[in-house]
Amino acid sequence: MKIRQEEIEKLITDCNLSACFECGKCTAGCPMADFFGGIKYGNTPRGVIEKALLNADLVTGDTIWYCLTCEVCTKGCPSGVCFRDFVEELRKLAVARGFDSYGAKCKCCGNYFLPTITQKTLIKKLDREAESIDYIFLCPVCRRRTFSRARK
Ligand code: SF4
Ligand code: SF4
Repeated sequence: MKIRQEEIEKLITDCNLSACFECGKCTAGCPMADFFGGIKYGNTPRGVIEKALLNADLVTGDTIWYCLTCEVCTKGCPSGVCFRDFVEELRKLAVARGFDSYGAKCKCCGNYFLPTITQKTLIKKLDREAESIDYIFLCPVCRRRTFSRARK
């Protein structure tokens, strides 16, 4: 089922996106460019907010999947824009409606827990065989359960 524009507009209101006055502080402090080795303006917090306010399509491409949900932008925004919450809620909505090709699911419980772009970048950065970094494929709950069992 498609995500209705009213649902995105509710998130825009709830997360106060219309209060953005384009200062760019969120994008300046955002770690995405460092983590991914560069990022297009359209995928930065400021760029995504701009697209959202212009009613651009945010769910069929990779636009909303780069955010690392660190909350630096939300904490530092002088206008009270909650970008992190906007992205998280929109991702949940996207996965629930079947736009889930960008969301990695836990190999134990099957729940979405991480963008695939982030997962792939982490694997590359760790520079090890995927089998030896099993925890990257588990959500935080299953990871805790699996590794605490292994330690006993
Ligand atoms: S820090 Fe806040 S006001 Fe400034 S561009 Fe980002 S969201 Fe807009
Ligand atoms: S929450 Fe996302 S957009 Fe905001 S600073 Fe962190 S990585 Fe960047």
